[in-house]
Amino acid sequence: MTYAVALIGTSSGPCAVVETGGSLYALSDLAPQLAMAAASDLVPLFENWDEASQGLDAAIARGGLPAPVGNAADARFLAPIQRPANVICAGSNYYDHLAKDFGITSFDKAANDILYFTKQAGSLVGPGKTVRYPSQSVAFDWEIELVVVIGRTGRRIPLADAMAHVAGYTIGLDLTARDLQFNKRQRRQFDLFGGKGFDDSAPVGPKIVPGRFVDPDDLALKLRVNGETKQDSHTREMIWTVPELIADVSQHVTLRPGDLLFTGSPAGVGHASGTYLHVGDRIEAEIGDLGTLGVEIVEDPDSHRVWNRQQLLAAEQG
Ligand code: MN
Repeated sequence: MTYAVALIGTSSGPCAVVETGGSLYALSDLAPQLAMAAASDLVPLFENWDEASQGLDAAIARGGLPAPVGNAADARFLAPIQRPANVICAGSNYYDHLAKDFGITSFDKAANDILYFTKQAGSLVGPGKTVRYPSQSVAFDWEIELVVVIGRTGRRIPLADAMAHVAGYTIGLDLTARDLQFNKRQRRQFDLFGGKGFDDSAPVGPKIVPGRFVDPDDLALKLRVNGETKQDSHTREMIWTVPELIADVSQHVTLRPGDLLFTGSPAGVGHASGTYLHVGDRIEAEIGDLGTLGVEIVEDPDSHRVWNRQQLLAAEQG
């Protein structure tokens, strides 16, 4: 029986849950020995993931599940990972993104190194009305991405061992301020901090599906904005695979349990057609059997205090 782990909001605060068959069971009911550490963030669950996943497998196989605390259809899911050590993203990692969005039809991965950037814990938000419009930008864009959740510490991980470091997978959005990513007011005109590192730029969720239930090479990805399909691709378009990314990025940094690795976005980002997001827009991102991550863009309550950058950028873009 497949299952997933998630964090939901309740009247008494965050609650770590296990979802199976559409029902949600409190981790503290299903596997009390695992629950203490994972009260408000699933990171601790992944710090001992080999043992934790065996415990969950056994509890679910045993049957006689406790009373559910909710169901997946109407629960309020939170970002399952709240305070990871690292949020690392790979850029330019889909052949169809290079071809359709940038007109690059031949790309030799052997002659290129992987582009990475990082986000922060403050970038992470869950589903719902969670994304404040980044009012420092006038070109706010979407990117659907498969996100790997790390389950074992490793540095300079051999390729052959890389998949043993995967705990599971979830859905992510690498929300991007294109005018700041390609900021004409900076000398190099390429700024991944301004473009991608801002608050609420990394919605994740709604749940984490353990790696053994997922084939990362065989997942359809679909992103809709206000019901209109914008991205419709497949992980077979990935340039560097999940194990290649893990082996390579761990050359730079130690990967730690609960770390998130965003694996790049396929074709169909808004920038290619000059179409961007606005307050009130709803994004739905769907990947394989990982569920659907839905977010709505809300007004930035601090927008009246934004610097005069919008007008500058809008004038210089036009
Ligand atoms: Mn991306």
